[in-house]
Amino acid sequence: MSQKEWLVQSITEIIGASPENSLRLQPDEAAFGPPLVGFSKGDDPLYDFLKKDIGAFYCHPAQIFAVAFPQKVVTGAELAVICWILPQTEATKREHRQQDRFPSERWTRARLFGEQFNNHIRKSVVELLRRNGHAAVAPVLSPLWERRISDTYGFASTWSERHTAFISGLGTFGLSDGLITPVGKAVRIGSVIAEIDIEPTPRTSLSHTGNCLFFSSGKCMKCAERCPAGAISAKGHDKERCKKYIREIASPYAQKKFDLKANSCGLCQTNVPCESRVPVRKKAADTEERE
Ligand code: SF4
Ligand code: SF4
Repeated sequence: MSQKEWLVQSITEIIGASPENSLRLQPDEAAFGPPLVGFSKGDDPLYDFLKKDIGAFYCHPAQIFAVAFPQKVVTGAELAVICWILPQTEATKREHRQQDRFPSERWTRARLFGEQFNNHIRKSVVELLRRNGHAAVAPVLSPLWERRISDTYGFASTWSERHTAFISGLGTFGLSDGLITPVGKAVRIGSVIAEIDIEPTPRTSLSHTGNCLFFSSGKCMKCAERCPAGAISAKGHDKERCKKYIREIASPYAQKKFDLKANSCGLCQTNVPCESRVPVRKKAADTEERE
C-alpha cells in the first residue's frame, strides 16, 4: 500500500469509526459521511501566491512547520499538505433545505459538534503521522493561526482550509465563496502539514472557479436567492454582511431555539445546484458547459 493509500484509508477509518463523529442527537446520528482526501506539495507555487494575494500575514506550510518543529531544517519541497472534505449527511441537508431564514438544528449541531470532531480528526491525523515517524502539525491548531483582515478580501485568516482544499485538488470556489467539491459545497474541511513524500492530487478544473455555474455560464445565482442577508450578488460574497447576519440573527436564533452556541447559517450551501455535486459538466477536452 502506498503512503497515499495508507493515509486515505486511515483518515476514512478515523471518521467512520469514531464515536465523536456525532450530531449528539437521540438516536445517535453521524455528523459527517465518508470523506474525500487530497494532497498537495508544501512547495506548490499557489502557497506563495496566497501570501501575495491574501496578505503577507498568510502562512506558508514551511512557516507553520518551522514553528512546530524549530529543531528541524525542512524545505517546502519535503512537506505534504493533507486535506479532507467532510460531507454533511443527507438528513442534515434535507432538514436545512427546508429552511429559508434560520439555520436548522442538524446544521447547527454539525457546525458545533462537527467542528469539535474535526479538531479530533486533526489531532488524530497528526498523532498517526508522528507514530509512523513523520513530523506533522495541524495549521488551525497552531499558535500561528489567527483571524486577520486582508486589504483585498476583508475578513481572512493566516491559514484557509478552503484554499488548501483547492490547492489539494478537492474543488473550486463558487460565487458564495464556498468550495464546490465532487460531493458539493455542503461540507466542512480539515488539513494537516507533514514531513512526508506524497504525490499531489491533480487539480482538474481549468480555473479556480471552474465548478460554479455562474462563473462558467453567467447564470444560476441560486445561492444569492437562498441568502436571507442579501450577502451574495454577481459581485460575489459580502463577508461583512454575512458575518453581521450570522452574529446578530442566525446565531442568537440557534441559541434560543436549540440551546446551542454556534456560528450557524449556511443556507447558501443547501438547496442549490452545487449542494451535493459539481453542477458544471466537463467535456473531454476539459472545457466547461452548463448542465
Ligand atoms: S448556487 Fe450556483 S452560482 Fe451559487 S455557488 Fe452554486 S453553482 Fe455557483
Ligand atoms: S452563510 Fe448565510 S448569511 Fe452568509 S452568505 Fe451564506 S446564506 Fe448568506
